Amino acid sequence: MAAECIFCKIIDGSIPSKKIFEDNEVIVFNDINPIAKVHFLIVPKLHIESLASCEAQHQALLGKMLLLAPKLAKEQGLSGFRTMINTGREGGQEVFHIHVHVFGGGDKLPRT
Ligand code: 5GP
Ligand code: ZN
Repeated sequence: MAAECIFCKIIDGSIPSKKIFEDNEVIVFNDINPIAKVHFLIVPKLHIESLASCEAQHQALLGKMLLLAPKLAKEQGLSGFRTMINTGREGGQEVFHIHVHVFGGGDKLPRT
């Protein structure tokens, strides 16, 4: 838990979110500012800043997050989707608690 982290506050319930999945290690909720019809974020409960801060000990957790993507995308009605992990300011990361974006729905997504 990092005191000023928005996603840690969503995890502890002090900021509300539209949750679609939760277990002891991971929470998944809809992005507040979606870029597609369906757009959710897969977030570990452990506060890790970014993919660049991950170490070997996080391998299973990262694998679990990725394997959740197709399962939850299907549950949300998507037949195809895009995953995205922004890393660092130059990589477009705004919330420094690692998360996997999953989005899709509607027309074919553009190349970038
Ligand atoms: P990043 O740019 O760090 O990869 O993505 C952060 C994402 O978190 C953005 O898509 C943004 O819309 C989303 N976001 C930021 N604050 C909140 C919030 O308070 N609630 C929810 N549900 N999403 C948020
Ligand atoms: Zn956090």
